[in-house]
Order: sequence, then structure tokens, then C-alpha cells
Amino acid sequence: MSTAILSALTEEQSSLVGRLAHPQRVTHAGRAFWRGELDDRPVVLALSGIGKVAAATTATALIEHFGVARIVFTGVAGGVGDGVNVGDVVVAQDYIQHDMDASPLFPRWELPGYARSRLPCDPALTALLLEAANACVAGASSQFGLKSAPGQRAHQVHHGLVASGDRFVSTATESAQLRAALQGAGHDVLAVEMEGAAVAQVCQDYGLPFAAVRTISDRADDTAHGDFALFVQTVASRYAEHMVLALLQKL
Ligand code: SAH
Repeated sequence: MSTAILSALTEEQSSLVGRLAHPQRVTHAGRAFWRGELDDRPVVLALSGIGKVAAATTATALIEHFGVARIVFTGVAGGVGDGVNVGDVVVAQDYIQHDMDASPLFPRWELPGYARSRLPCDPALTALLLEAANACVAGASSQFGLKSAPGQRAHQVHHGLVASGDRFVSTATESAQLRAALQGAGHDVLAVEMEGAAVAQVCQDYGLPFAAVRTISDRADDTAHGDFALFVQTVASRYAEHMVLALLQKL
């Protein structure tokens, strides 16, 4: 059975499509899917577009229509935790929807009907993804010529809570508020993005393993929109390619 590799943006996926053997492009539910093999492993590469609903639709299609065995998300995110810098990689341990608020009916951030705020990623798949991410980041400069900017420390891999919501977090004030509010309730968030928690919820509903990795493209602050496109093309997409290939070898 296939592994689904899901991304939000074309640029996040482009390196992987370029390496696909026997590529077959399928349009379903208004979006593009690529069937094929990466290093002889059957995969479906999928593009969700941006946001939680788009991600949930795509995850559901991957499960119901393409019958995938597991879903791995690769993309970019804004760093909000201390020391989570541009070029670092975050492997999600679990997910929270930072814009879920059905209070006072339910505690803030709790998913109504799930009796919890945080949904875990699959521990076994996540452990393999973490190994793959560590190996790639450690070998990035020797294996594929990726270097951190002069004078900056080497890229790092982090593992922990990621928050998703339908907002591009693009001011330092908003980022600090979001982080402080969640921290006050015991949720120490490393990064913020717009899709992962929705995919985690769909995978939980269907009982399918899910893991996610995000390269940090910005600090979710006032310069977050800056070199976003360039960064995704030159750094994030290369990391995605190498981490996914390394993960597939381990399955
Ligand atoms: N500049 C892009 C828009 C990207 S939206 C364009 O013009 O198309 C941001 C995407 O990257 C989303 O898929 C989200 O998951 C992720 N992301 C990166 N940084 C983010 C941030 N600071 N806040 C929220 N999502 C972020």
C-alpha cells in the first residue's frame, strides 16, 4: 500500500515530483495527485492548498479514494518556540488547533466530541521521521550542499507540539500572544502552520498513521512574508525531498 506525502504548496512538493518514477497525474476533488514510486516505494504525492478545510478534504480523498496506508505531511511553518529558527526542522509530536474555541461550552482549544485539545501523531512513524530528519539535517551541507547562512548556527531538529489555524501569523505581537495564551494552559508550541492539525484529526477518525515535518520558513513575525517563496524553493523543498526519501527507506 502507498504512503501519501501531503504538502500545502506546489513549491513544497516540487523536488519530490521531479524524482517520481512512472508519474501519473490524477485530478480528484479539484486537486492534483501524483501516483508513482520514489526509490521503488509506492507513493501518492498530494497538494492540499492552504488551510484546515482544504487539508481535511485532501486527507479524506487520500484515504477514501487512493487507499493510502499512512499520511506524511511535509511543508513549512513559522517558528514560535524559543530557538526555533529559520532553516530548522520541526517534527510534530502532537497537534493543537489554535483557533478552536467553543468556550464556554467546552474549554478553549478542546475539540468538541474528542474530549481533548491535542491529537498525537503516530509514535512509530514519527520516530522514523525524526531519525530521517536528524540524518538529513546533519548531512545537509555534505550531501546536498545546503548550508546555514554565514555566521549563523547550524540548523537544528526540534520535536514537540505544533499549532494549526486558519491564519498566516505575520506579526510579532500575534505570535507572542498566541504562544503565551497556549503556554498558560500548558501547551508549549514550537511552530505554527495552517493544515497539520486537520490532517491529524482526519487520520485519528480513520485510524491511519500520521506524521508531519515542517521546515521553519519564518519566525511568524513582522518579516514573515519576506523571502518566503525563495526559502521554500531553495531550502524547504530540498529538505522535504531528502527527509521523505530517507523515511521511505525505513518503512
Ligand atoms: N506566501 C504564500 C502563502 C503561504 S501561506 C503564497 O503566496 O502562496 C503559509 C503556508 O505556509 C501555509 O501552508 C502554512 O501552513 C505555512 N506557514 C508558514 N509560515 C506560517 C506562519 N507564520 N503562519 C501560518 N502558517 C505558516
